[in-house]
Amino acid sequence: MVTSLLDLAELELHELEAALDGRGCEKFHARQLYRWIYKRGVTDFAPMTDLSRALRTQLAEEFEVSTPRIVGDDLSIDGTRKFVLELADTRRIEAVFIPDTPSMTFCISTQVGCAMACGFCLTGKMGLVRHLTAGEITGQVRVLAGATGMLDHPFNIVLMGMGEPLHNYDNTMKALRVLHSEHGLAISPRRVTLSTVGIVPGLERLAGEPLMPNLAISLHATTDEQRTELVPPNRKYPLAAILDACRRFPLKQRSRITFEYVMLAGVNDTPEDARRLVKLLAGIRAKVNLIPLNPAPGIPYERPSDERVDRFAQILADRQLTVSVRKSRGRDIRAACGQLIVEGGTKKSAAQQMALLMR
Ligand code: SAH
Repeated sequence: MVTSLLDLAELELHELEAALDGRGCEKFHARQLYRWIYKRGVTDFAPMTDLSRALRTQLAEEFEVSTPRIVGDDLSIDGTRKFVLELADTRRIEAVFIPDTPSMTFCISTQVGCAMACGFCLTGKMGLVRHLTAGEITGQVRVLAGATGMLDHPFNIVLMGMGEPLHNYDNTMKALRVLHSEHGLAISPRRVTLSTVGIVPGLERLAGEPLMPNLAISLHATTDEQRTELVPPNRKYPLAAILDACRRFPLKQRSRITFEYVMLAGVNDTPEDARRLVKLLAGIRAKVNLIPLNPAPGIPYERPSDERVDRFAQILADRQLTVSVRKSRGRDIRAACGQLIVEGGTKKSAAQQMALLMR
């Protein structure tokens, strides 16, 4: 018999209240369920002992809490842990725990694969397989927090795993609302950073959200010609349009937009690039995060030398731009930026197979 259970992992608190209403439940039951699922990491109804036995039985008959399953857990020498998670349809995604940065950080995926096709990113080679649901996005946080013993500790979330969050806008924002619920993990939007290639209509919608995460823009180039080559969506949303949306973005006091800039040897790492970057960001409350390329098989670029990165950073700093160089963590286990691609799953795309062959 095929039964279709309603998946509680997909519900915001008010939706859960509505689902329980009429089943003889009160509002506080929804809050109790949220506490079990998000704060204690319990997804079976049987151990939820502050609910009556009859209610637990009824819940188990009608509902489920679908949760990604850990099928891979690799520990890097620097403490970074890369998890491979299997979803209900057996598709796989990756999520990464990065400890002591000095905060504890979870790097979470928003899609299986990615449609953006950035020239230096392995996930981009997969193409988009599908969007993640809100429950699959929050599920990664539940699973990682449970596995790393962080359910009771503060942590940050960066939407910098597989996928483009603004290409999966509604599910991503729903996930942030669920994570924010005071009856669940109660994660403040200040602890969440959304990283995007700069899909302008998405940026404009984000500007009107009551719950606004920190914003990071993957800039990577200082001319449209070069950016279109590295980040193809630039054809539709060129630099001027993105920077214009950033200028209008309603930033909270003392907060700034992060501009990520992946450094590719001999391509975008010259002193002229640095000076153009300073000009582009004039008038924006910005900080720049330089990411020396994490090389990967099938990626036709190289990582610049440390001296070259330092020189670039110095030019920005001399002109009063705040700049940091991202220390890429977990490179030995392919957990670093742009290295997330699911290997060894049953559903390998042609691009994945190619990337594996080229290792
Ligand atoms: N799609 C979103 C979030 C995912 S990637 C975005 O593009 O912002 C998070 C960051 O890692 C992005 O800035 C991305 O450009 C960068 N990145 C991708 N591949 C990389 C690589 N091979 N080396 C270093 N950084 C990379």
